[in-house]
Amino acid sequence: SRSIVESDREVAHAIHAEIQRQQQQIELIASENIVSRAVLEAQGSPLTNKYAEGYPGRRYYGGCEHVDVVETLAIERAKALFGAAYVNVQPNSGSQANQGVFLALLKPGDRILGMSLDAGGHLTHGARPNLSGKWFEAHAYGVREEDARIDYDALRKQANEVKPQLIVAGGSAYPREIDFAEFRSIADEVGAYLLVDMAHFAGLVAGGSYPNPLPYAHVVTTTTHKTLRGPRGGMILSNDEELGKKINSAIFPGLQGGPLMHVIAGKAVAFGEALQPDFKDYASQVIVNCRAMAQAIIDGGYAIVSGGTDSHLALVDLRPKGLKGNAAEQALERAYITCNKNGVPFDPEKPTVTSGLRVGSPAGTTRGFGEAEFTQIGQMMVRVLDALVDNPDGNAEIEAAVRDEVKALTARFPIYPELA
Ligand code: PLP
Repeated sequence: SRSIVESDREVAHAIHAEIQRQQQQIELIASENIVSRAVLEAQGSPLTNKYAEGYPGRRYYGGCEHVDVVETLAIERAKALFGAAYVNVQPNSGSQANQGVFLALLKPGDRILGMSLDAGGHLTHGARPNLSGKWFEAHAYGVREEDARIDYDALRKQANEVKPQLIVAGGSAYPREIDFAEFRSIADEVGAYLLVDMAHFAGLVAGGSYPNPLPYAHVVTTTTHKTLRGPRGGMILSNDEELGKKINSAIFPGLQGGPLMHVIAGKAVAFGEALQPDFKDYASQVIVNCRAMAQAIIDGGYAIVSGGTDSHLALVDLRPKGLKGNAAEQALERAYITCNKNGVPFDPEKPTVTSGLRVGSPAGTTRGFGEAEFTQIGQMMVRVLDALVDNPDGNAEIEAAVRDEVKALTARFPIYPELA
């Protein structure tokens, strides 16, 4: 059959333009990464054609012998990577992984306690517009005002008041290490399950640069496409195999139909990569790089929420210079630096405006940037942002100069040269 370029010029053109954008721009969105060619090939394979409802060896369709090999490899590799007795690699996304856990362990109306969106939690941890906030009685904990860290004494007190059936640890914009032992002790004290959503930092756990929640949580969920550097998707892990049986039934047939076998192949390949020794170097470099970028931003006169980071992400507080997150995001995008506006804890601005930016180092680290490049990135950000202080529409000359510097930097660290 014909290639996409021959058969569909419109889609082919947009894909080509997106590849060029990724090649030329600096990607600082903390939840994004750059997968290997091997992961791309697995995900773009004819495994997309295959229906495989059920689990390896127990399928509702014939012809599953090869996809069984793939799914078993993904499961075994994930078990080895995280030290888990049970793994389900079928959730189509991080959100569906969390929904699978809720379906397995909770009833509508049960109480859950998760981190608030303002403090860096995720929508699926009980936010009002999300299913988790509509179908459960959702309560939220925040961070301490002085240092933007989780206050475990306050959390313990709140958990004793709320008496939740499930506590969620983890989030999308919390830059610090989380004390999973404290969380488990609080969960045990109130008789709650502890779910750790490690979506953001799973790759750092896999690489040994962030504490592993598996020994503490009843159940762990993750996405596979952030620091873990696999295809878009979700996964559930646990050391409790009885719980695992309930979760398997919740994912299929509870929530999903046929698993995305091409994506599961991509997961298997990515987990194989994460088991290689150089993934440890990547994980530790991600944190070193993020700290270098954060320091350059601090040196430029901006604040970093909590004063720094223990992970792949940092939250820039723009208030010392009176800037807003939305305008800052747009100015940086014009300079080919992609990141997202983000509320800071106790942000006085609306979520569509915000006082902050979330920046992350995984994608840049994957393409080979080191500390020197991340320091340069932080300095380029400061130039673009400082220009906004006197001119809310930005300074076109400075933005163009930074854009040229970004293009020169990204050209030195090419990605997907075979797709150029
Ligand atoms: N959990 C956390 C902590 C996340 O940050 C995200 C995504 O941003 C998700 C879950 C949801 O993942 P997905 O976008 O694959 O549904």
